[in-house]
Amino acid sequence: MPSDAPFIPLAVPVTGAAEARNLQACIDENFVSSVGPFVTRFEEMVAASTGAAGAVATSAGTTGLHVALVAAGVTRDDLVVLPTFTFIASANAIAHCGALPWLMDIEAKSWNLDLDQLDSEFRRHTQRDGGILRHRATGRRIAAVMPVYCLGMPLDFDRLNAFAEEWGVPVVADAAAAIGVRWRGQPLAAAGLLSVISFNGNKTATAGGGGMVVSRDKELIALVRHLTTTARTSADYTHDRVGFNYRLTNLQAAVGCAQMERLDELVAAKRRISAVYERAFSQIPGIVPFPNPPGAESGCWFSGLVIEDSRLPSPVSLSSALRDKRIEARTFWKPVHLQAPFADAPRAESLRVSEDLWQRVLTLPCSTNLSEAEQDRVIGVVRDLLHA
Ligand SMILES: *Cc1c(COP(=O)(O)O)cnc(C)c1O
Repeated sequence: MPSDAPFIPLAVPVTGAAEARNLQACIDENFVSSVGPFVTRFEEMVAASTGAAGAVATSAGTTGLHVALVAAGVTRDDLVVLPTFTFIASANAIAHCGALPWLMDIEAKSWNLDLDQLDSEFRRHTQRDGGILRHRATGRRIAAVMPVYCLGMPLDFDRLNAFAEEWGVPVVADAAAAIGVRWRGQPLAAAGLLSVISFNGNKTATAGGGGMVVSRDKELIALVRHLTTTARTSADYTHDRVGFNYRLTNLQAAVGCAQMERLDELVAAKRRISAVYERAFSQIPGIVPFPNPPGAESGCWFSGLVIEDSRLPSPVSLSSALRDKRIEARTFWKPVHLQAPFADAPRAESLRVSEDLWQRVLTLPCSTNLSEAEQDRVIGVVRDLLHA
């Protein structure tokens, strides 16, 4: 393929006539800011699709995570359990509360929080102190557990809820990339207290930018709404606590509504793309597919492969060779414990799986409008590079 071949991006938004129509309606009705019918409709659509009792739109996934943690009671000097293999935004949201992540490992079969390790860390490294669960080494209160649905892959909702019940610790899920997921038929909001979805431009469905906090608990949803709208108690500028301006605009929600209308199609496209890559590379020795554990209906946000055999080219060299062929491919998350701002965060006894995995992952083009011909081209180039 010549180097002037069309560029194939990693993951871009796909918008069209429905988005344009909704945006025009915002202008026609002069609802361009945080007041307007699309915000409410967007919230209702996401609540319905995730099995939630309610949803609150936020300016980003990150701000949604921040406000969800505050609503769950996370405060200064607390610890929040977090898998180290995640996007930095999860850890930043914890830091924005004045808290620190307690970093744990992932399990190899799902790339999600290792629930066995979580259990053993709690048994070995926490103690009750006047009803408050504390981390022994630091004395910090353990305020929440934040699982991350890596690549849009849910983890065992039943086990997660049983754990939260046993220890009395709230679960706030980073479900940023997980719109459309189910665990053994249960929708996203069935897990934990609060879940947060991102509608950033590179996610399966986008609002340009934005987030959504969902829950089965109506009172919590009301609290999140209160916090995102400056904690105002009346129209005369009275506020009862330190709140946030984390609202989404009607313009963004207009795009989000159009995307939600064809969510099934978008998720189906993601799953199809992922399955095609899996089939294409399954015969190549030293390559393993992204995880696909039983019980999980993944949203397949990102697709790609794992280089198991160190004699094969590394993801870094593959992504640069692919760039020369006008194909965007990227390495994946560098774990949080290797990031300067979180180098001193408490961590589990072992982070072996994350440390072993992160430099072996390559993500490949997976926009929902990726054509069969484009995907064939990507597969052909990757095969050639692996065999060279
Ligand atoms: C995208 C993403 C976020 C952040 O969402 P924004 O809307 O970009 O703020 C957080 N966590 C994970 C796991 C993500 O993939």
